[in-house]
Amino acid sequence: MKRSGAGVTDMNKVRADIIDGKAFAATLRQKVATQVTRLKAEYGIVPGLAVVMVGEDPASTVYVRNKERMTAEVGMNGHAFRLPADASETELLNLIGRLNADTAIHGILVQLPLPAHMDARKVINTITPEKDVDGFHVVNAGLLATGQEAMVPCTPLGCLMLLRDRLGSLAGYKALVVGASNIVGKPMAQLLLAEKCTVSIAHSRTRDLEAEVRQAEILVVAAGRAELIPGEWIRPGAVVIDVGINRIERDGKAVLVGDVAFEGAAKVAGAITPVPGGVGPMTIACLLANTLTACCRAIGASEPAELVA
Ligand code: NAP
Repeated sequence: MKRSGAGVTDMNKVRADIIDGKAFAATLRQKVATQVTRLKAEYGIVPGLAVVMVGEDPASTVYVRNKERMTAEVGMNGHAFRLPADASETELLNLIGRLNADTAIHGILVQLPLPAHMDARKVINTITPEKDVDGFHVVNAGLLATGQEAMVPCTPLGCLMLLRDRLGSLAGYKALVVGASNIVGKPMAQLLLAEKCTVSIAHSRTRDLEAEVRQAEILVVAAGRAELIPGEWIRPGAVVIDVGINRIERDGKAVLVGDVAFEGAAKVAGAITPVPGGVGPMTIACLLANTLTACCRAIGASEPAELVA
């Protein structure tokens, strides 16, 4: 991809390229599966992922089921742990303690949200950082922020892979991340900074969001606000990564939309992820990649470069 003067891609193009996250994620899972086979053959080790769920939140149940299915599909060992909604925090912490000590488990994921009587921060920070495949532990956040080897949160890692695939080196690009959450916006900004982008972060108190968006050659939006960014704001040729997943009603039907108004944006951007089928599938694929990476680090095997940040 060539850089043009004002934007990122060919300014004469009438419609953005669609970044097919679904296909990219399928390829990534295939790469993970190949590496699982290698670890089995060379080390006699099968990566193990423990998924812990407390209660029966319907959305979480669907996510967890998908994670378990895809874990099995790439040849890893999935270990499911279900605690009742009224389980005590101590029970959960004890379970995490056992998983931390279990050498057959290389990755531990605690599905969020947790019931209100549990302190999610304390729970996450109880996971051994090396097994924290969600990358939410404060140690991993610190390692990422200081440019050290970390477990990187799955959604921003997936966005980074899509951007690298599209643009090659990201050095020098003007990047805007809309959203500053600990799980998406902040780690995304850290990753872009590490790639030598010039990074801005916008949030709910940003004074002139439009002016910020207009400057961005790379725009990553994770605000959780349906179609917050209209197409007219987008810099011609920009690469747009839409993390948002919002369920809204349109023409009497429930539909999923992103944080970017897709139709308008596709007329201006150089490339854009759709919702659904963009970032979403990358998140689970990166969870599997992180589990593989955690296993490689635990046993001293080489880490496949294309699976890490
Ligand atoms: P979050 O914790 O609610 O954070 C939202 C961020 O957006 C906050 O920093 C907030 O600012 C900012 N924000 C809210 N309204 C804004 C506005 N009008 N203008 C500018 N910034 C605004 O959300 P999250 O967990 O990061 O998730 C964000 C979205 O990504 C959600 O739609 C979620 O469903 C989706 N998501 C998708 C995936 C995936 O796999 N595709 C994974 C994770 C999340 P303040 O900090 O000032 O409050």
